[in-house]
Amino acid sequence: MSGIEIRNLNKRWATFDAVKDVSFEVKPGTLTVLLGPSGCGKSTTLRLIAGLDAVTSGHIFIGGKDVTVQPPAKRGLAMVFQSYALFPHLSVAENIIFGLKVRRVPAGERTRRLKKAADILGLGALLDRKPSQLSGGQQQRVALGRAIVAEASVCLMDEPLSNLDAQLRHEMRKEIRTIQQALGMTMVYVTHDQIEAMSLADQVILMRGGRIEQKAEPAGLYVRPATSFAARFIGTPPMNLVSLADGPAGAIIKGSAGPALVEGKGDGLSLGLRPEEIRIEPDGVVPAIIRGIEYHGADSILECAVGDQILQVRVDGIRRQSVGDQVRLGWLPDAMHVFDEADGYRAE
Ligand code: ATP
Repeated sequence: MSGIEIRNLNKRWATFDAVKDVSFEVKPGTLTVLLGPSGCGKSTTLRLIAGLDAVTSGHIFIGGKDVTVQPPAKRGLAMVFQSYALFPHLSVAENIIFGLKVRRVPAGERTRRLKKAADILGLGALLDRKPSQLSGGQQQRVALGRAIVAEASVCLMDEPLSNLDAQLRHEMRKEIRTIQQALGMTMVYVTHDQIEAMSLADQVILMRGGRIEQKAEPAGLYVRPATSFAARFIGTPPMNLVSLADGPAGAIIKGSAGPALVEGKGDGLSLGLRPEEIRIEPDGVVPAIIRGIEYHGADSILECAVGDQILQVRVDGIRRQSVGDQVRLGWLPDAMHVFDEADGYRAE
């Protein structure tokens, strides 16, 4: 099994730095997700690892070998892209083994690998069909089949599920994770979908503006975001952020919860509270008025006005409040995340 190590990677397009000093490690047999908003450099990073684009500076090691200037075919990896890139005139079976034919893998070996991939993916009955006769999920399986028959220990995936509907995405996500673990693949997976990242990854690399904002296990990213950007990127609805420096909302919270907060350090800081960690309770310290209720079934999101700011509060699905109600909000000291407003970093 091969791991991946990225050291001080940079990519410049003309005058634009798409990837800036990116370093991380992917342990053998684990799955790392590159996550971030559109344009943050995650696909570029993946393409550099694949060898599809040349690095401006930095080094890429796969299985301990420096592959920075090696062509893609010499890097021993498989790739799955958003567009499945299936050949319309070839059957499912031919599509799956296409790469093996190119690499002149003997026919017997091709058949063995095809059977194994078809078994894993449940494609056995579809091998003679053309891609146009398959559903989106089945086409995605064929693309995965190609990665499986390559028997590469490293697999790169760029938004492989983005063409599928929500239900199918969920199923395929579980399937990819199962296959990755069963085959012990080392995988780098690009997505802008935080749920996909949180549910798939051993490690999440959150990128922003070409740089790594935070790298952590999913739970670490959620429980202890390093910056206010990371805090707001993960979680739906996003974490509430209240400036403590000025403004009525900050003043109310400082006035009511101040002592429990970071004493004397209110200025220049913002307070982060996840919607599910704010509670509506009779002895809550912060007064608020309900401005809106979004009913989801299992839960509801209350929009609670505190001074000039709306705090989103997640409650259970039972309707206990109405718009216009005056309520009191409370939270445990542990629920508070405090960030420096100037640079966005966690202030602890
Ligand atoms: P998305 O989720 O939208 O694909 P991303 O995070 O994968 O976004 P990249 O595709 O890595 O982002 O692009 C990062 C930045 O580099 C973008 O601003 C993009 O416009 C720029 N870029 C990408 N490829 C090129 C290129 N061939 N020439 C010039 N600029 C490029």
